[in-house]
Amino acid sequence: MHSFAYKDGSLHCENVDLADIARRVGTPAFVYSRKDITETLAAFRRALAPLDAHVAYAVKACSNRAILQLMARQGAGFDIVSGGELWRVIQAGGDPALCTYAGVGKTEAEIRYALEQGIHCFNCESEEELRAIDRIAGQMGRKAPVAVRVNPNVDAHTHKYITTGTSENKFGVDIARIPQLYRAIYTTMPNLQPRGIQMHIGSQLTEVQPYLMAIEKVAPIAMELKELYGIEFWSIGGGVGIVYDGCLESGAPEWWREHPEQMTIESFAAAIVPLLQPLGLRIIVEPGRRMVGNAAVMLTTCLYEKRGEAKLFKIVDAGMNDIIRPALYEGYHEIWPVKEHRGGTVTADIVGPVCESADFQAQDRQIPDVKPGEVLAEMSAGAYGFSMASTYNSRPLAAEVLVDGDRWQIIRHRQSLQEMVQGERGLEEG
Ligand SMILES: *Cc1c(COP(=O)(O)O)cnc(C)c1O
Repeated sequence: MHSFAYKDGSLHCENVDLADIARRVGTPAFVYSRKDITETLAAFRRALAPLDAHVAYAVKACSNRAILQLMARQGAGFDIVSGGELWRVIQAGGDPALCTYAGVGKTEAEIRYALEQGIHCFNCESEEELRAIDRIAGQMGRKAPVAVRVNPNVDAHTHKYITTGTSENKFGVDIARIPQLYRAIYTTMPNLQPRGIQMHIGSQLTEVQPYLMAIEKVAPIAMELKELYGIEFWSIGGGVGIVYDGCLESGAPEWWREHPEQMTIESFAAAIVPLLQPLGLRIIVEPGRRMVGNAAVMLTTCLYEKRGEAKLFKIVDAGMNDIIRPALYEGYHEIWPVKEHRGGTVTADIVGPVCESADFQAQDRQIPDVKPGEVLAEMSAGAYGFSMASTYNSRPLAAEVLVDGDRWQIIRHRQSLQEMVQGERGLEEG
């Protein structure tokens, strides 16, 4: 988290005091660093420069229009998983021809829309899906560019809810079936053009080993497909992990030095480039979490302190509807008071106002003894934070802010109650 640090006892994003933002826009609010995001995109490109590589940002990590604009203006592509995401990309000025469309459940309407817009490729997850795209493309008189997502059956060593590349997962096509499936595309699906091959083995990977295993398994097949059908690219997916723990304590801008075991963009690239370079294929990477995860915090205010029989609870104004990662897959976020504490710490659960026992931000966490009224920053909240938010418990969606140097702007205003119920209709009989 290069862009977040205490200055004069107050936590800053770049040169902006987060306390100022909390005062002006209220909490909960997500605050992103523009510099962090643009530098991360540049770092991916620099590290992969020895390859004919293209970066396709995985939109689902954070899909705010301003964030997509940042990517689009730098010429990034996009990895999308729905027609809605394609629409967002286009609204943000992104180029559909740089969009790869993933996901196991594309609908007919979505497939039509993507064909009309001329996306780069459909990354397909089953023969049934390929046949559907073939039929729809035929009706439209188009040739659909496709790649098949191969499931290499390697364990990504990440949480079981975010591992995707083993035979137990719904994703991709078993590696053993890939050659016959491409043959079937080539011989029986005249409206498809096999353009590449794709894989994505999981999210929040902290070591490069699973990538290497998957690349070694898939490379011979990729070469065979290139030979037989002239495929041009291999998309190796996203999944590069970020630091959730110890990102601020180190105080060093180059926090990864404190985490020698943690994969970085540079060590990831250094390990994979030698394996991929000889293949002569265009390489696409689809980072989501690594692109924006460390680039934002979520600000929340402590409302109450409650001493239970067994635990101390700090009740905050952000709930699982605002950031669901802790409840969904035991996601960990460091939590720091915006005004630096010098005193001791306590062990507490940080919980939200939502009526669910899973509504916690942290459990049995050693934290500074924050008091009601204090603003806290939940670190590394940029990915799968706001993009997973809901209005559960009729809690309007949080605000989003983008910091640029010593300036900042609201990139999403806090939802009003009226906006929250927009689209609802009362009973017809009145
Ligand atoms: C979610 C997803 C990504 C991004 O994963 P991260 O872990 O956020 O980098 C990339 N590719 C596909 C196909 C995905 O579904």
